[in-house]
This record gives sequence, structure tokens and C-alpha cells, in this order.
Amino acid sequence: MTTMPDPVPTLPDSQATAGYSRLTRDDPGFAEAVYEGLFNKLSVDNPRFSGEPDLVVAPKTETDVVAIVRAAAQSGTKVAIRSGGHSWIASSVREASVLVDLAAFDGISVNVEARTATVGPAVRGERLSKELVAHGLAFPVGHCGTPALGGFLLGGGLGVNWGHWLPSCFSIRSLRVVLASGEIVVASATSNPDLFWLARGSGPGFPGIVTEFELELQPLPGAIRLSTWMFALTDLSAVTRWVSRVSASLPSNVEVSLVMAGPGRPGATSASVPFVVGVAATAFTDNAGAAREALRAFSDDPGPGVPALDHLEALPVAFDSLHEPVDATYPEGYRYLADTFWNPLDIHDALEPLAELITRAPSGASYILSGMPKNGHGAELLPKGEAAFGMHDRSLVVPYVMWNDSADDAANLAWLTELRSVLEPTASGHFLSEADLRYDASRTSGSFAPGDWARVSQLITAFDPESLFCGFPQPREKPAAD
Ligand SMILES: Cc1cc2nc3c(=O)[nH]c(=O)nc-3n(C[C@H](O)[C@H](O)[C@H](O)COP(=O)(O)OP(=O)(O)OC[C@H]3O[C@@H](n4cnc5c(N)ncnc54)[C@H](O)[C@@H]3O)c2cc1C
Repeated sequence: MTTMPDPVPTLPDSQATAGYSRLTRDDPGFAEAVYEGLFNKLSVDNPRFSGEPDLVVAPKTETDVVAIVRAAAQSGTKVAIRSGGHSWIASSVREASVLVDLAAFDGISVNVEARTATVGPAVRGERLSKELVAHGLAFPVGHCGTPALGGFLLGGGLGVNWGHWLPSCFSIRSLRVVLASGEIVVASATSNPDLFWLARGSGPGFPGIVTEFELELQPLPGAIRLSTWMFALTDLSAVTRWVSRVSASLPSNVEVSLVMAGPGRPGATSASVPFVVGVAATAFTDNAGAAREALRAFSDDPGPGVPALDHLEALPVAFDSLHEPVDATYPEGYRYLADTFWNPLDIHDALEPLAELITRAPSGASYILSGMPKNGHGAELLPKGEAAFGMHDRSLVVPYVMWNDSADDAANLAWLTELRSVLEPTASGHFLSEADLRYDASRTSGSFAPGDWARVSQLITAFDPESLFCGFPQPREKPAAD
């Protein structure tokens, strides 16, 4: 039995009754507090995630957070942070740490006239969308409804309509941060600009606890239209050439994604074609005419020349329902691994080598998502020098490996290893928020634009000289299947 560090002081009565919970390994409910809130169930018992906190605390107020950070610093205990528990690599579960669970920081306050909102880091994207729609406003929330804004925004945030609204971190106006010193600071473009730069993209490396974000909002698009196509995977080559050709003339407010999927995809039956490539194009516009115009490149094009198994044309979708079909592709309670690869290749060349591999996936639920930032004009996407978030290229390929039985861990990990061996040789970098940082250290450094990684490292050390915060998860010795 290890000796438990005790970094949290007894609070004065008034705060104790407001009371934040505090659980050590011996307390009932400790394991639930550590693991139940994790989306990825692989991280609960697979050896590649081994390491457990000594203490879990759930502060209710910013004053609690300051007390926890000061006490942790005093006792030399490292601090791990959780907002929504949706890190694929469970970056909140760290050896011998105090895990600060920010679930109570879930307030939303909208200033309709200023078109801004202040939000707690534990607010989920789906809740923010609903709240904003009621005010005629919108925000580039994640494509899935359940990740919390804390990790999503700090990691850059590839949200809805990101080719037009930019990655979501560019819509952070300011944030409140408890630093390793226990000091509370506000960071914005004009106040603590280095900390602000880091907050826009350093993800799990961020050296502080964010207690609140101030966000710039968008007017609610008056007409969102979704067109989808599904083709047999055997037609991949024709489909990717078509998407690539059409994308070149699509405006930035049309978001296109491609998915290579197997027989375990939502809606598939035993009668369905087992392996498919799906294409989705979502236009974010003011009215039906503008939506038709935005999607015109599809109607003007002769098409891929292969038959679609299924097609929906310009279906109206409510902003706060956009996440629903996406959520269905990430079943709850599953074991997951994701990884990410920016690629200088066109989508056609990037996906072609993967076609045979997807048919050998041990789990039919696994799929490979891809897209081209700003429809192939990604080089013009990001404002220069404003954010740590910076790595991007012509296409992004993201395999999601998902299964539900621990007996299948080795086979699924081995399949991802095979995918990596095909994707790594042409990859130019990684997307921090969904990359497997526990696999290889190059995932972290390779998530930043050349030259920025050195600045990220220096600034983290400057704000947290004693490395109080756990920071980027480090790769462990690789288990055999990796
Ligand atoms: C089903 C699913 C769908 C996803 N879809 C998308 C998507 O469409 N676009 C996209 O960009 N990403 C997506 N992601 C990735 C997701 O954005 C990141 O995993 C993000 O970190 C999740 O945020 P969280 O707060 O829920 O995670 P957590 O696991 O709680 O946090 C992850 C890490 O972020 C840091 N952190 C979190 N909150 C704070 C805080 N308040 N202060 C300081 N540090 C903090 C900590 O280091 C923490 O360990 C998806 C993930 C899942 C599981």
C-alpha cells in the first residue's frame, strides 16, 4: 500500500459546507470517480493506460481550485485535470496525481447583444448549441455532442463549419486561469498574450486550470443543408476523385467529410453492402437559395460515375441536431483508440492505400474519417502567429478503432499499428486532440507547426517551472500489440 499524499487542506467551515468532494484510494466511490466519467473504456483496464491518481477532488468554486493548486504545490503532488473525460487517451488519469474534476464548472451565460458567451469548461457542446439556438446564435461546437469545451477548446477544436468559422480556439476571446502559483489570471490577446497563445492549441500541455472561457459567437445560420451519399467501398477511387474535383470549387461554408466504414456502422443490416464509403456535405448558409448556391458544385458536376447506394439531397438540419448522427457513430461503453495524420496528399491519394485495410478491421464498428480543411485550400485557413494550434495540411485522416470486448484488445491494437505503418510515411503531422500521444512522443511535437513546438515547451516551463501540472501524456514502453 502506498502512502497517500494529502495535498488538500481542511477547509474553513463556510467552504466545507459549500463542500467539494475529496476521495482517496481507500474511500468508497474512488474507482467510480476516476473511471466512470471516461468516455474511452479501454483506458479503464488496458496496461497501456496504467497509472492511477492518489486523490480525486471535485471543486465547486474558483476559490476551491486555488486552494487545491496551492496545497498540491506545497505537498509536491502533480495535478491532473478533467472537464468532460473525453480525451481518447484518458489524459486526466495520471500516476500519483491529484485529479481535479471540474464537472461543477458548467455555467453558460449569453450576452446576445455583444454576441459573446461565458461558459464553464465542463459545458458539453450539445448543451451550448441548444442554449445558443434559443438566442439565434451559434458556435463551432464539436461534431459530437458530448465532449466538454475544456479539452475541446484547449486542443484547438475542429468544430462544425471549421473551414469557415476556423478551429474553435480562434473564437476564444478570453479565459480565466488558475496558474501553478495559485494566482488567478485573465488571458486574452491583450492581457497575458503568451498564455492566451498557449490556450489556443496546447491541449493537455496547458499549464493552468481554466475555470471559464469567454467566447465570440456567430449568428445562427438560417439554412443548414446536408447532402449525403453512400457508395460501395470498391468504388472508392472514383468517389475520392469526384470529391476532390468538386471540393476545389466549393465555398468555405460547405464542410465535406468522407468515411470508410464497415458492417458495424449505424443503420447497417445483414442485407447491406458490408464496406462503404460515405460522403457528407453540410452547407451553413442564411437561406435556402444560398444553400443551393453553396452546394452548386455538386449539382454542376457529372458525379463520380458509379452508382450511389443511398443519397439524400440538401436535407434541412437544425443546428442543435447536427451532432446526433455523429454521436451514433461513437457508441457509449466501447473501447477506443484514435490517431490522426495530417497529409500533404490529396484525399484520393491519402485514402487509396487504406481501402483493403478497412476490410480487415477486427471490429466492424471501426471507421476512418477524412476531410480537407477549407475544401483543399487549408494553407490559407489559419491566421498566422495567433495560436499554438497550427499544424494543418491538405488532408486529415483519422482512424477510430472501436470494439467492446477486452479479449479483442490485442487484435484491434495490432490493426491500428498496421494502419499507422501505411499512414506515417506520408504524414506531415498530427492533430493533438485526437492523436495517440501515449503511442509515440512525435505525436505531441508533431502537432505543432515547425518552430512552434520549441515555443510551446518554453512557455509551459515559464508558467509552470516546477511541472506541477501533469502536462502532455508520455508514451510508456509499448505493449506487444502496439
Ligand atoms: C466521441 C468524441 C468525439 C470527438 N469529436 C471531436 C471533434 O469533432 N472535434 C475535435 O476537435 N475534437 C473531438 N474530440 C476530441 C476532444 O475534443 C478532446 O478529446 C478533448 O480533450 C475532450 O475534452 P474533455 O474536456 O471532454 O476531455 P478531458 O479528458 O476532460 O480533458 C482532456 C485534457 O484537456 C485538459 N483540460 C481539460 N479541461 C481543462 C481545463 N479546464 N483547464 C486546463 N486543462 C484542461 C487536461 O489536460 C485534460 O486532461 C472528440 C472526442 C470524443 C471522445
